[in-house]
Amino acid sequence: MFIYDFAQGNKDMRDLLGGKGANLAEMTNLGLPVPPGFTITTEACRIYLETGREPAELHDEVTAHLTGVEKARGKTLGDPGDPLLVSVRSGAKFSMPGMMDTVLNIGLTDQSVRGLAEQAGDERFAWDSYRRLLQMFGRTVLGIDGAHFDEALEDVKRERGAEHDVDLDADALRGLVTTYKSIVSEESGRDFPQDPREQLDAAVRAVFDSWNAPRAETYRRQERIPADLGTAVNVVAMVFGNLGPDSGTGVAFTRDPASGARGIYGDYLANAQGEDVVAGIRNTVPLADLGQHNKEAYAQLLDIMATLEGHYRDLCDIEFTIERGRLWMLQTRVGKRTAAAAFRIAVQLVDEGLVEEDEALARVDGHQLAQLMFPRFDERAHRTPIAKGMNASPGAAVGRAVFDTGTAVDWAQNAHEQVILVRRETTPDDLDGMIAARGILTSRGGKTSHAAVVARGMGKTCVCGAEELEIDVGHGLFTAPGGVEVREGDVISIDGTSGEVFLGEVPVVDSPVVRYFEGELEPDAADADELVGAVHRLMTVADDRRRMGVRANADMPEDAARARSMGAAGIGLCRTEHMFLGDRRRYVERLILAEGEREREEALEALLPLQRDDFVQILAAMDGLPVTVRLLDPPLHEFLPDLTELSVRVALARERGKEDSGDLRLLQAVRRLHEQNPMLGLRGVRLALVVPGLATMQVRAIAEAAAIRADAGGDPRVEVMIPLVGAVQELELSREDAERTIAEVRQRTGFSAPIPIGTMVELPRAALTAGEIAQVAEFFSFGTNDLTQTTWGFSRDDVEGSFFSAYLEKGVFGASPFESIDVGGVGRLVRIASEEGRASRRDLKLGVCGEHGGDPESVHFFHDVGLDYVSCSAFRVPVARLEAGRAAVLAARTAPTGPTAPTDSDPANASR
Ligand code: PEP
Ligand code: MG
Repeated sequence: MFIYDFAQGNKDMRDLLGGKGANLAEMTNLGLPVPPGFTITTEACRIYLETGREPAELHDEVTAHLTGVEKARGKTLGDPGDPLLVSVRSGAKFSMPGMMDTVLNIGLTDQSVRGLAEQAGDERFAWDSYRRLLQMFGRTVLGIDGAHFDEALEDVKRERGAEHDVDLDADALRGLVTTYKSIVSEESGRDFPQDPREQLDAAVRAVFDSWNAPRAETYRRQERIPADLGTAVNVVAMVFGNLGPDSGTGVAFTRDPASGARGIYGDYLANAQGEDVVAGIRNTVPLADLGQHNKEAYAQLLDIMATLEGHYRDLCDIEFTIERGRLWMLQTRVGKRTAAAAFRIAVQLVDEGLVEEDEALARVDGHQLAQLMFPRFDERAHRTPIAKGMNASPGAAVGRAVFDTGTAVDWAQNAHEQVILVRRETTPDDLDGMIAARGILTSRGGKTSHAAVVARGMGKTCVCGAEELEIDVGHGLFTAPGGVEVREGDVISIDGTSGEVFLGEVPVVDSPVVRYFEGELEPDAADADELVGAVHRLMTVADDRRRMGVRANADMPEDAARARSMGAAGIGLCRTEHMFLGDRRRYVERLILAEGEREREEALEALLPLQRDDFVQILAAMDGLPVTVRLLDPPLHEFLPDLTELSVRVALARERGKEDSGDLRLLQAVRRLHEQNPMLGLRGVRLALVVPGLATMQVRAIAEAAAIRADAGGDPRVEVMIPLVGAVQELELSREDAERTIAEVRQRTGFSAPIPIGTMVELPRAALTAGEIAQVAEFFSFGTNDLTQTTWGFSRDDVEGSFFSAYLEKGVFGASPFESIDVGGVGRLVRIASEEGRASRRDLKLGVCGEHGGDPESVHFFHDVGLDYVSCSAFRVPVARLEAGRAAVLAARTAPTGPTAPTDSDPANASR
């Protein structure tokens, strides 16, 4: 069975019927006014894409279901006297706005156009419908460049002195049909098919094919939608919004998708077909205006919207058409929303009793929270407003104005410029430019135009419909009221929260959500920001539900304090290398150049108090919480001058006859320590084993700092972490040394609290021999940066900037493995090491301190593997807390049946 009638499906069948089909079925079964129709399954599409042919049964199934629609409407497809017309619409499991094809008015022919004119009593309407069919069929089914049709339309408008399409009369449109038909014949080498069924079959095939259109592929990669899902195809009886002033079409949201505010939001366009609204080609009016024109349909629409919200228990967006006063529902789905709206709506739904707290938590995510932590424009700063449009997608973006996708991509990628893409309106062809830009500014279209919908989906700042702007793409400039001209390359600032556009750069300030996390804003205060309140509520739920702890990677006392206020329960990684930089380099130089034990000891003695003081301050900032200090990791040459620079200096001095013996010794040392692959060289535990006294000095500084803090009445909980261990012997040797040093400090100071010693697991060999290593380690912390580097053989400092964009484009992976954990490879090593480590030491503590500790998807994996905590940069701590809570909630939900994907509307969520 490759086809489901709308009455046969339901909202949970998105895999098979796509989002649109499943929700049309749901609405049909709710008794809402949906035009009759049916859905061809994604399975049929997959077979078509694999074999190049539709499944054999499809033809007869289409016939049977079409007959059903014909009966329901009392008309036959393409009947010359009174034709049934259908639309053929794509609809994948995950919404891909505007990425795939749709063909409307299938069934119109040279004959049936006359029947339609007669039945509708409207010649103009019939010819307009026919020319739309020719245009869409020509473009999507026959692959003809749309510009041919656009030019012909513009020519007729010019000839007739018409400003808008609606100003063209029946005669003009009949002429246009003739022109369009000759474009079809000339460009495709065949006449437009006059057999309605042939039109239908070709359109279905074209929709299948559009799954693999380049723009759809780009969108899928960007949104991490699997490439093998295929699309469903909906065949729906046409209803017309362009049958005169009592007809129209619109898009509505049950709450504001930008802010989350309760109410009815949307755009309406009288006397138009649906694609006109989404494409943003004509400017719409606010939905509330419909109430003045058609009270009854408006009241019915509000009623339906309330029904849908109650039924889906979420914000819904809706597409509808009014045909001569009668309301028809064409689509609904759980609507996309901005990050701020997601948090507000989730909490509103809890307060309205529609969802439980766990469900509310599941409906927001760490990516959204991270977005709310972005800075905003400083309201007190001087600004030069030049226009105002719609606040389509929030945020503050500053960049150079560019007017086409090619330039946006070129400037952003090659010149590393921040750019704002300025267009009259965007189309799916602008996708690459939108991805490259910091923000998007358009002069036409409402909050549901292509630019707005796609920008919100990407979390990108967007101001749309800034009508006062005269945008001249051809000359690369726009003019604002008062004659202000902005040319390509000029800097502008756009505020997606207010819709304002400013000339020049406006300074940005911290977001209130960050100020809340830093303890500057009281979420329960009477005048508290609703968004801050919502974030606080959901963070409280997340903290309550999560099993994993969240620590921070922090090297300085200020970072530690900041991390603590962000909710970090300790430091999971305190890198000590910065403590050897700046002024202190000279001590490292002395250490490296030391001839004989005395000189070396003197250098170490000089470093000891500095290190100790660093640790005292960090332990004070994290008093009572664990602080994992990692012994020195990077190769020593990083602390020495650059080989080339030093060689030049020495050579020049020699030429002048003024050789510096210090420089000469330094140069010898730099040469001696030079490595071809320093990341695989003398670093990590290897340093501790071959540079005498270095690790000992660090351990002494750590233990003495703890003793000082304890003497001062503090509660120091320090842990010593040994990096880059690959063999248990390495850990044994360095551990013995550390234990000896700690024992000596204990004896001298009387300090007695435990100082656990553990290791980082950041080499495949460590992961594979974790059982042995755990015998000598009290904890493991997965260094997934190095583990990714060494598992893939990718130089972490080089590959992301060189060939990763090609790898992402070719689909080798959907996200960089340095950003999101590679579950199948690196993740497998983490799992093996966790299981074998715990098998040999039951109370082995497990954490992760690579960048992945703050990545939403990776946090779910670490929860799943059973780690005790994740550690990430201070700014990501709230994200990790939220995701650790979500991971616990989602895992509990799927526990009885195993790890199935939650039926979430967001593909990124569902793939977790
Ligand atoms: C790691 O390798 O994951 C890690 C945290 O250490 P670093 O990034 O300092 O090498
Ligand atoms: Mg590392």
